[in-house]
Amino acid sequence: MSVLRGGLLGTLAEQLQARRDQHAYRSLRVAESPCGPHQRLRAENGVVVERLAFCSNDYLGLAHHPALIDALAEGARRFGAGSGASHLINGHSRAHADLEDQLAQLMSPWVPEARALFFCTGYMANLALLTGLASAGDRSTTLFCEKLNHASLIDGAKLSGAQVQRYPHADTARLGALLAQSTAGLKIIVTDAVFSMDGCLAPLAELLALAETHDAWLVVDDAHGFGVLGPQGQGSLAELGLRSERLIYMGTLGKAAGVGGAFVAAHPLLIEWLINSARPYIYTTAAPPAVAFALQTSLDLITGPEGDARRTALRARITQLRSHLPAAVAGRGWRLLDSPTAIQPLVVGDNATALALTAALEAHGLWVPAIRPPTVPVGAARLRIALSAAHTEADVAHLVQVLHALHVLTGGAP
Ligand SMILES: *Cc1c(COP(=O)(O)O)cnc(C)c1O
Repeated sequence: MSVLRGGLLGTLAEQLQARRDQHAYRSLRVAESPCGPHQRLRAENGVVVERLAFCSNDYLGLAHHPALIDALAEGARRFGAGSGASHLINGHSRAHADLEDQLAQLMSPWVPEARALFFCTGYMANLALLTGLASAGDRSTTLFCEKLNHASLIDGAKLSGAQVQRYPHADTARLGALLAQSTAGLKIIVTDAVFSMDGCLAPLAELLALAETHDAWLVVDDAHGFGVLGPQGQGSLAELGLRSERLIYMGTLGKAAGVGGAFVAAHPLLIEWLINSARPYIYTTAAPPAVAFALQTSLDLITGPEGDARRTALRARITQLRSHLPAAVAGRGWRLLDSPTAIQPLVVGDNATALALTAALEAHGLWVPAIRPPTVPVGAARLRIALSAAHTEADVAHLVQVLHALHVLTGGAP
């Protein structure tokens, strides 16, 4: 046994065991095939199994699109494998610049005069954005953060050092009162556009009206809306027809866009400020230019006829699930949340039920993740069913049928 066992390693082993005991232990699964509805996985015993998966954020099924794979290869041939440095040194390539121009143009109907800035991931974009905004000059900054915000916004708010006020989910009256009381020099409302564990939309029109009334800015994280919602997949602002200089938009490019990365679209001065001040932007190597190159093809697909067809297919799957699942599992208190998006959570109650259900689905060759507290409230453990344009009608019918069979077999408590 290692001599270090008595110290840190011993403590870690104990804490990991405690997590196992509380059914809170996490482990990795190795996918042996590209992201898609039918995914091959390596099971713990080393055998490769195939699962019908309802868990990815690849909402349009672009992650293994041949045109994107070709574009990634072509990008590598033209620009090399790596960027070599951060954006401010020599890592900012033609591919990054062109992608940013394309994104700015796409968002400018909603964020007037928008300039866009590309990041390696959405997590880093949110850290950069919130720390950068809070460091703007000598103003005292308050961030008004929605309760259900994504972890990256929560972490960005913490790291920013700004004062943080959290408001209850979708409670615009409470937010209005907090804004009215605030004496901060700079007020910023921060929200997910589509909540990742509930699938519902934030009341963005009301939030923007509050921002206007109280001279605040509105940061919108559209990780689950960009590519999916609005005409041409332009996202949640387009879906609701919202346009304002007060909007600061963050979209991710590893979900519906099928590749990876993220961007912020905002007033050019704000983007210039981020380039000059945001440490998570400045002190990291630029993403491989091939990624930025492939993303230009992804945007072409998203905004073109193929994107329209894929969004139509996704909406059909959402309608199909919502019209058949509630009846199939009726009578035992499982509740399909009222979500218009690809995220369709089935709330089943306690952790044990959610875990047992996930295990039972797995035994039937299906992969639907159980989401438990603290990610969701205690007593609201759920299956997070994520639909994609790549799912067929038969895939969704199979999920409904297996859930129905489990429900009947077990009286609703597997
Ligand atoms: C996934 C997600 C992010 C992080 O984006 P990555 O590109 O995966 O780092 C940020 N915000 C929300 C709401 C998300 O769902």
